[in-house]
Amino acid sequence: MTNLRAESSALSSVSAIPPTYRSVTTGISQPGASVQQMICPLCSSAEYEEIGALPISTSLVAMGITAPIEQVLETPSADNSRLVECTCGLQYFSPAVVGNATFYKKLASNGYYEPLRWDQRKALEFVRSGQTVLDLGSGSGDFVEASAAVASRSVGIDFASLPASNQPSVRFISGRADLDGDEAERLASLGLVSDLVTAFQLVEHLSAPLAFVQSAANLVSPGGCLIISVPNRLRFEIDPVQALDCPPHHQTRWTVDQLRLLGDLAKLETEAIIAQPSRNPLRIVNRVARRTLRRSPPDWPLPPAARPWPLHRILNGMSLVAVYSRGRRSEP
Ligand SMILES: [Zn+2]
Repeated sequence: MTNLRAESSALSSVSAIPPTYRSVTTGISQPGASVQQMICPLCSSAEYEEIGALPISTSLVAMGITAPIEQVLETPSADNSRLVECTCGLQYFSPAVVGNATFYKKLASNGYYEPLRWDQRKALEFVRSGQTVLDLGSGSGDFVEASAAVASRSVGIDFASLPASNQPSVRFISGRADLDGDEAERLASLGLVSDLVTAFQLVEHLSAPLAFVQSAANLVSPGGCLIISVPNRLRFEIDPVQALDCPPHHQTRWTVDQLRLLGDLAKLETEAIIAQPSRNPLRIVNRVARRTLRRSPPDWPLPPAARPWPLHRILNGMSLVAVYSRGRRSEP
């Protein structure tokens, strides 16, 4: 999951957003089964502004996935997922529509793979000599391998297809990187509580990000750190179709403010939130030119997650990294 840095630039493009989808309606969840899901997965507020609705079939086509919808989802779902913005600023899709292993396999074959990404290199700066490292959603294991140069033990957790390592201090263990159910307790029972726990580009895939971070915090040694990364919603992005920011890939969209709130709600100290700088401006100019030249039918129903304007967003690259620490609190 973490290695699917398939950029939306690889996806189909549209030249304009239909004006009807720019309007925003407000709402408050009412009691009842059908709207029970409209609860913010970060702050639990039921207040939101609706941004639009996305047919999952449209999203899959934009990601280049042609398999029948029922083959690529974790659970059967209604075809539409609504995108709303909570009063806390988190944008989330409801219902959450989560891709299964088949979905990620197909997506990986469409995307491209970057060996050690910016967010992972940034996290390496926080690894201290002799520390233990636990990477949730370790993918091909590049961060785990790189951290082993400094750490005394580096362990990667992922769902399947674990890589092999030549380094004696490196282990890869099959498990639920999303820590669903009792997985955090199981990993703790294996002695995997660590000085540094990392989860790169994982939180935005989850329907319950706060519960995940709370579980991950339990795998951090007292005084240790939890580092997560997510795509920056305020990044520079030319392409108005950002299907990878949508279900069944991503369920939530983040800025610095929600990462800070996430730390507060998980009772962690926020040490730093770092925004990836944008890439070479010449590459940006090149991408603008390519987008301008390419024309496709405007059939995408949502406004883009990230937009090229205002201009300051040109300074923002793909990712945000949040560094949380778990203080040595005295037990009550
Ligand atoms: Zn909220």
